[in-house]
Amino acid sequence: MPATIREVPNPSVRIDHGKCIADKGCRSCIDSCPLDILAFDEGDGKVKMAYDECWYCLPCEHDCPTKAVTVSIPYLLR
Ligand code: SF4
Ligand code: SF4
Repeated sequence: MPATIREVPNPSVRIDHGKCIADKGCRSCIDSCPLDILAFDEGDGKVKMAYDECWYCLPCEHDCPTKAVTVSIPYLLR
């Protein structure tokens, strides 16, 4: 049975699944995250924020070839 990922509620890292090309094998955001908090859900084929421990360091957003990743940095950290 494929592994399913439970996305954190209100994720600060959002994936636009209309733009994401994970179905073509892209894993750039997953690979670039130093905390390993993004994950590919084999159940529905979508990339999700699996753990709410973001550093807001942004390589996931910068490395996405289709600009599908949006990181919302909390106001107090800006
Ligand atoms: S901002 Fe940094 S820690 Fe957060 S998901 Fe992206 S790469 Fe990972
Ligand atoms: S880097 Fe972008 S296109 Fe690639 S899996 Fe992540 S969100 Fe999808």
